[in-house]
Amino acid sequence: MGERVLQLDRLRGALIGLAVGDALGAAVEFQPPGTFKPVTDYRAGGPHGLSPGEWTDDTSMALALADSLANAGWDLNDQAHRYVRWWQQGDYSVVDRCFDIGNATRAALSRFMEHGDARRSGDTAEHASGNGSIMRLAPVPMRYVAMFPDDVEKVALLADESSLPTHASEQCRSACRYMAVVLAGLMHGLDRDEVLAADWKPLRRLQQSTPLHPAVAEVAAGSFRRREPPEIKGSGWVVRSLEAALWAFYRAKSFEEAVLAAVNLGDDADTTGAVCGQFAGAYWGESGIPQRWRDGLARRELIERSLANCLRHVGPP
Ligand SMILES: [Mg+2]
Repeated sequence: MGERVLQLDRLRGALIGLAVGDALGAAVEFQPPGTFKPVTDYRAGGPHGLSPGEWTDDTSMALALADSLANAGWDLNDQAHRYVRWWQQGDYSVVDRCFDIGNATRAALSRFMEHGDARRSGDTAEHASGNGSIMRLAPVPMRYVAMFPDDVEKVALLADESSLPTHASEQCRSACRYMAVVLAGLMHGLDRDEVLAADWKPLRRLQQSTPLHPAVAEVAAGSFRRREPPEIKGSGWVVRSLEAALWAFYRAKSFEEAVLAAVNLGDDADTTGAVCGQFAGAYWGESGIPQRWRDGLARRELIERSLANCLRHVGPP
């Protein structure tokens, strides 16, 4: 019973952490590091003129994915349909309309609407390796957390496939595989140093079954420990984005410290925050997220609804 409560706290923490990181970063998205007053709390503004606590596409797409896993099981076309409903009708948006769809996502979803096959709607080109699929990933390891550690390859495969509707490059797919396995380990309550070690056993198994793209493998091998800003960047490129989120997470003493370090890198701040927030939320749990940030999330009921949907399908640890 105690373990169940603890795991629930970590599962909820991953998705709420995603939304909190997104909302903290939204006000400084696209601003170069050092050009803004460091973020310490929700604030108004940013390119979309949001109110404090409002969140963006990262959270909207994660809620769509969580609902899909709950209602349709594993169905990439259902996932893509829900992303289209967000884009075209504003479902899952904090303000009931989509105001910030990325170019790669728009192009991919347009292709999906033409041919109806989400498996081949994402761009496979290396240069199309944005962070749009790692930013929404948490529901996959949440829903399938019971597969860890025995079926770690399966968790990784599902995470890989979840990238296809919008981001089908090998770098994006590799980043999803690696991130899902780390998140699953954290959701199980494993220690941060253990899951982030270059020789972590599930990572070795992953590398043996389907090797990670070399650029992602370099991150998994610990590039985030060696580098510091300005080499660490809040970039839109999936590899740098994942690296930046792990840099902010791996040595922080609290959820707050991790996520603020991530968003204060600027640039793609909301997404760096959302990626870091998934790791930090899974590690410290919902109870480790400052109460004022949980309470201050806009449209909290939308988040709770998708979270409850998804968690209904999670088996016992
Ligand atoms: Mg965003």
